[in-house]
Amino acid sequence: MAFDIDMIKKVYAGMDEKVKAARSLLNRPLTLTEKILYSHLAEGIPTQTFERGKSYVNFAPDRVAMQDATAQMALLQFMQAGKDKVAVPSTVHADHLIQAQVGADKDLEGAKVTNKEVYDFLSSVCNKYGLGFWKPGAGIIHQVVLENYAFPGGMMIGTDSHTPNAGGLGMIAVGVGGADAVDVMAGMPWEVKFPKLIGVKLNGKLNGWTAPKDIILKVAGLLTVKGGTGYILEYFGEGAKSLSATGKGTIGNMGAEIGATTSTFGFDEAMERYLRATKRDDVADEALKVKENLTGDPEAYADPEKYFDQVIEIDLDKLEPHLNGPFTPDLATPISKVREVAKENGWPTKVEFGLIGSCTNSSYEDISRAASIAKQAVDKGLKVKSEFTVTPGSEQVRYTIDRDGYIDIFEKMGGRVFANACGPCIGMWAREGADKQEKNTIVHSFNRNFAKRADGNPNTHAFVGSPELVTAIAISGELGFNPLTETIKNDKGEEVKLDPPTGYELPPNGFDVKDAGYQEPARDGSGVEVVVKPDSKRLQLLTPFEPWDGKNIAGARLLIKAAGKCTTDHISMAGPWLRFRGHLDNISDNMLIGAINAFSKESNKVKNQLTGEYGKVPDVQRDYKAKNIPTVVVGDHNYGEGSSREHAAMEPRHLGVKVVLVKSFARIHETNLKKQGMLALTFENEDDYDKIQEDDTFNIIDLDQFAPDKPITIEVEHADGSKDTIKTLHTYNQQQIAWYKAGSALNLIAAKNA
Ligand code: SF4
Repeated sequence: MAFDIDMIKKVYAGMDEKVKAARSLLNRPLTLTEKILYSHLAEGIPTQTFERGKSYVNFAPDRVAMQDATAQMALLQFMQAGKDKVAVPSTVHADHLIQAQVGADKDLEGAKVTNKEVYDFLSSVCNKYGLGFWKPGAGIIHQVVLENYAFPGGMMIGTDSHTPNAGGLGMIAVGVGGADAVDVMAGMPWEVKFPKLIGVKLNGKLNGWTAPKDIILKVAGLLTVKGGTGYILEYFGEGAKSLSATGKGTIGNMGAEIGATTSTFGFDEAMERYLRATKRDDVADEALKVKENLTGDPEAYADPEKYFDQVIEIDLDKLEPHLNGPFTPDLATPISKVREVAKENGWPTKVEFGLIGSCTNSSYEDISRAASIAKQAVDKGLKVKSEFTVTPGSEQVRYTIDRDGYIDIFEKMGGRVFANACGPCIGMWAREGADKQEKNTIVHSFNRNFAKRADGNPNTHAFVGSPELVTAIAISGELGFNPLTETIKNDKGEEVKLDPPTGYELPPNGFDVKDAGYQEPARDGSGVEVVVKPDSKRLQLLTPFEPWDGKNIAGARLLIKAAGKCTTDHISMAGPWLRFRGHLDNISDNMLIGAINAFSKESNKVKNQLTGEYGKVPDVQRDYKAKNIPTVVVGDHNYGEGSSREHAAMEPRHLGVKVVLVKSFARIHETNLKKQGMLALTFENEDDYDKIQEDDTFNIIDLDQFAPDKPITIEVEHADGSKDTIKTLHTYNQQQIAWYKAGSALNLIAAKNA
């Protein structure tokens, strides 16, 4: 399945020399994370060391994975790079656009109709440019990647925040924005700050009701939703080795909930078993040959305080099952305390729904353990009190659990199976009555539980737990139910206790699937036509941005002076705008609509200097564009923080904004602006921000001498005829100035490939 064993052999072949070079440069033993990072430098064999949390480094990832919502703009951009094929193995997964409503078959058929043009587009681009395409129904990106592509010691980027799921097989797998994916697919390096390291030592062994999920729920409780920011978590110790590869995947997946760059584990026997079970003996054999490079040096694990920036230790023997929530994944409560805490906080204790599965928890092990609880309900005459749904992570898992009778058990218990897709995990759940916004409780084994995330109802209290615990709670129908100590009344009036879950790490009869839903790309894609209808509302082919004319900018008007926080969400909102992610002109109607105008103190209301009237930011900007008048956006500190969403840089560029001048930038957004051919400047003197007035006109008088480290001068003409001359700084290097000259980084790549 486009699985590239030759690529893996190449990675492993070069690893030893690179790891040795890094060890000698650092002059100390290495963690696994350092081995993987230093063996994936774009420069090849390491010649310098990097400072954790400080140095920006260029890496050369082995793979790219994209989900259907984010892939649209990424692929539209890639098509401009002038390449015949992607530079590294890449895949697209049709999983986010399928709504869960009735059940798997009907919902899938409905999605194929609603999203036909998007699916046809993705499928044809993949076919043309050599990307694997996993069709709707094939499964959720992270489960499919774990089953088919993840490999120990590899580096992958993916346009989805839960890409770190592949850490279950010992990868460094990082969620990124589409622009990064485009760079790597086009053969450019991926730039990121060298992360700091948290070592998580797992002692003992899980037992009874505790599951891998409880480890990450505990870690989330300890570190909170921000505690992992800028860090990679590396798990080690006897407890780590005792976990299945898919259990490790769950832990890696939910590292996103604490803001971690990614999480990873050393190669071990559980990973080897999983690779063999998923028909990748060749990968397992190759990994075994270089196994010392696929785990941390023993000294690093023996004395972790010396080698990690922070160390956490968890005793799995004593770990209790947890429920985290509501509304945040770091509010961790051990199951024995949930009843009491729920009462204190006034959380509704009647559980309306139990939902298991998703990319986070739908392995064979998860399902078989949850099914062992469901079977007890059926056998012991327990009537399930909550509604119950199962979302398999892939068609391979769905087919295998169906073959092995687990779906039958869930259905006997009154459960429903949704399509192998994101569905209720991402708000694509047409839950009946959700629009009434009643206060209610659901429990699920997904990863995120922010308000509105599952069903759009801000009053749905969602709690996250392991699939087996979710199943038990759904049977009891009560949030505080503790299956370790409590009983439930059955249909004969007897008090029944559920036995602890049992299951299989891997299917005893092997995995099976009839049609995995994979589309192999054409060997020669030159004849494949990519269809985008000119009148489409959701997709639009991109036109290359105009190159710079080499001249200074004169007579630019102020579009908006943004006050305070201006994140990528303020610049390019999400929510209902998501459906236009593949249509630059339509999505540009959300440009800066969340930013607060420093003069009016309102959002989406700016003065049109040509008419003197106030209008919506995109409308005013479109008016300037129609009249060929350049504009400037002024901003405060950390402008563009939040996400790496490339739309936040593409929209202003598309609508004709020429300069973004701020007190400071969030680095990723600054780079994105540079990549799209925008001028990203900062005030040399922050107080000059206060000089900018609503009717200002800007002349950039020395842009024609644009050079690295050379400040740029702007003449600001005020309405009363007075003038200020302000100095601005920039961080463009020679290469980035070449992007600016070419109109965008992609234009430059395309010119090289022409
Ligand atoms: Fe994201 Fe949920 Fe889909 Fe996983 S199942 S990829 S967390 S939306």
